[in-house]
Amino acid sequence: MDNIIIIRYAEIHLKGLNRPFFEKALVKNVASALAGIGGAAVRRGESRIYVENVREDQMNAALEALGRVFGIHSYSPGVRLEQDFDAAAKALACLVAEERKRFAQETVTFRVEAKRADKRFPMKSSEMAAEAGGIVLDSVPGLKVNLDHPEITAYMEMRDKAYCYTRVLKGPGGMPVGCNGRAALLLSGGIDSPVAGCMIAKRGVALSAVHFESFPYTSDKALEKVHDLAKLMARYTGPIRLHVVRFTDIQMTLYEKCPQDYLTILMRRFMMRIAERIAEADRCLALVTGESVGQVASQTLESLGVTNNAVSMPVLRPLIGMDKLEITELAQRYGTFDTSILPYEDCCTVFVPKHPVTKPRLADIQKAEEALDADAMISAAIAGDAVTEIA
Ligand code: ATP
Ligand code: MG
Repeated sequence: MDNIIIIRYAEIHLKGLNRPFFEKALVKNVASALAGIGGAAVRRGESRIYVENVREDQMNAALEALGRVFGIHSYSPGVRLEQDFDAAAKALACLVAEERKRFAQETVTFRVEAKRADKRFPMKSSEMAAEAGGIVLDSVPGLKVNLDHPEITAYMEMRDKAYCYTRVLKGPGGMPVGCNGRAALLLSGGIDSPVAGCMIAKRGVALSAVHFESFPYTSDKALEKVHDLAKLMARYTGPIRLHVVRFTDIQMTLYEKCPQDYLTILMRRFMMRIAERIAEADRCLALVTGESVGQVASQTLESLGVTNNAVSMPVLRPLIGMDKLEITELAQRYGTFDTSILPYEDCCTVFVPKHPVTKPRLADIQKAEEALDADAMISAAIAGDAVTEIA
């Protein structure tokens, strides 16, 4: 008998050729998520993935890690043994006895759900369930059958082998990172952009990230915070190629040569242009930001339009219709919130106009940019790009 973890994925959109590709990506990502779990082996089964050889003392760590792998619909720790009904029923009783310990009350309700996936197996699903239920009832004290609302459901499946388990844990859903291309996230130190990155990664997209710093106006601590955020995100998104671009010279030039009220919107256009160039070099197909309509002056529809106009790559804004409260909940779920709220300066807060335009007109902004050699400014900034692979 082996201890295993059964991993299930949603198959709805997995037709034909896509399927092996999806499965391979998921196997690879599960294996990297479990890299710290000594000896764990990941194998493809029929419409599911199995993790073998996880030591008992590392089981909880393995289950926790799997809770962060996009593409997993649900997963169950359990046991696998030969297609032998009596042995499987005994194993199921042991699992139920273990699960039973989690309840303090005298009597706990349960039912057995059985599945005969291998139609050559001589017992029908209903017979397996009834008979296994009886064996569990006889061997574990303090149980009562309840078919409709049991506290414990014990599962027995007859496939190539027999599989038994009592827990079905919810996975994070989505698609395996890497099966839907790559995008470049504009990553600030705030609450929003890490969430935006995780949401796009959940759709199977791998990430590069671009962070703009305003050294010496922003501190080493602020930069460390961004590295920490990327590291926290990487637990969900897989490795992130983080680019740090020094933005100070551009900000100074804009400050000297352009109307003050346009500073923020001009900075945003330059950020997008630089991010687009870096994205192209990283073979990204889109940019991602944490913008949401109306959140600040630079996120009115007018401002978003003027910002968009600076680039031709699609800009994905997964938080566009969300409230701060909803975004905060997601930041907590992805584990980035506590780091995001550390109080370090962001480059955008260093040069803030007193009265930022909230309804910029593209023609005015383009006119202001005529005073600049945008290409030279962008190339100079990109030349100083510092790249770190965050895993
Ligand atoms: P966040 O919580 O992500 O910082 P925000 O509400 O503070 O967002 P802004 O500062 O207007 O909003 O930024 C909007 C988006 O622009 C961010 O979500 C992020 O994608 C990008 N951005 C802002 N500042 C930076 C920066 N210093 N480096 C890289 N991207 C940035
Ligand atoms: Mg910000």
